[in-house]
Amino acid sequence: MTMDVDVVIVGGGPAGLSAALVLARACRSVRLIDAGHPRNSVTGAVHGFLSRDGIAPTELRRLGRADLAPFPNVAIDDDTVVRAARHPDGGFHVETVGGASWRSRRLVLATGVVDNLPDVPGFDQFYGTGIFHCPFCDGYPFRDQRLAVYGRAGRGAGLALELLGWSKDIVVCSDGPCGIGHDDREDLARNGITVIEEPVAAFRGEGDRLQAVAFTGRADLECAAVFFTLGQHQASPLVKALGCRISDKGTVDTARHESTNVPGVFVVGDASRNLQWVALAAAEGAEAAFAIATALIAEDRR
Ligand SMILES: Cc1cc2nc3c(=O)[nH]c(=O)nc-3n(C[C@H](O)[C@H](O)[C@H](O)COP(=O)(O)OP(=O)(O)OC[C@H]3O[C@@H](n4cnc5c(N)ncnc54)[C@H](O)[C@@H]3O)c2cc1C
Repeated sequence: MTMDVDVVIVGGGPAGLSAALVLARACRSVRLIDAGHPRNSVTGAVHGFLSRDGIAPTELRRLGRADLAPFPNVAIDDDTVVRAARHPDGGFHVETVGGASWRSRRLVLATGVVDNLPDVPGFDQFYGTGIFHCPFCDGYPFRDQRLAVYGRAGRGAGLALELLGWSKDIVVCSDGPCGIGHDDREDLARNGITVIEEPVAAFRGEGDRLQAVAFTGRADLECAAVFFTLGQHQASPLVKALGCRISDKGTVDTARHESTNVPGVFVVGDASRNLQWVALAAAEGAEAAFAIATALIAEDRR
């Protein structure tokens, strides 16, 4: 049986939970459906979130869900949405792996992204403790120590130059031909950043503490942390299936209040923007919720 709600939110990370909270307080009926595979599951701490610096991602989610518990107009399902489409009679029709079926007036996709990860031995051992992608999130404990960048071309050079904010001792490990253009090369050299093009054999260390990048044809490079940049892709095929416009970077192009080119569909959090932080994901969720609630008030008034 299909049941009606004002809003279905797909994804229960910071973006989806925040949208649910604002919609709950705006007296809207909400079904939040979350598959439970957040992007930051490998890390033990969320940094840069006001009043919660260093909180475990699982704890932040627990608190977010606890905030929603008092609202009878919001329900959370641990399930995966496998299909979302326009309903012939208006709104959207959503189906889950668990066999649930919902019809909603608006649809919020807070489904996140998945990072492309290096296929290098040792990566899994240190991902989240000594290997990261965002210096703003995880660079501070490694400030003023040697940092390695795993990446190529303009993207690798850009991350290396950005890391100068945290350390002056940066080495790019391109794991093969670096593909870095002449101007970027000069920029790196001017800032004392060297490039090693030898194939990377492994990330080495003890326990969860990274100590070095190992190569096939030269001595290990000792370093305190590795930052990588290999791009990312949408965690869910729903955005594409619904016809949302996706940028070259793989994120959904959103307009005012995180609306998309598909009327009634809002995409919030990492799935929609370049700057991908917990605080901004939560802010985008709140903004979309504001837009949806005010639009539904206007619709019902007419
Ligand atoms: C290693 C690492 C460290 C990070 N550290 C920080 C940090 O310190 N500070 C910071 O601000 N940011 C950090 N980030 C970024 C942060 O994780 C993201 O910005 C944030 O999680 C985005 O929230 P979101 O709600 O958009 O997506 P997510 O948190 O990824 O949540 C998306 C949710 O949607 C669910 N989902 C996807 N598809 C479906 C579907 N079809 N049906 C149902 N559910 C679905 C997923 O399972 C997931 O639970 C880090 C990221 C990584 C990878």
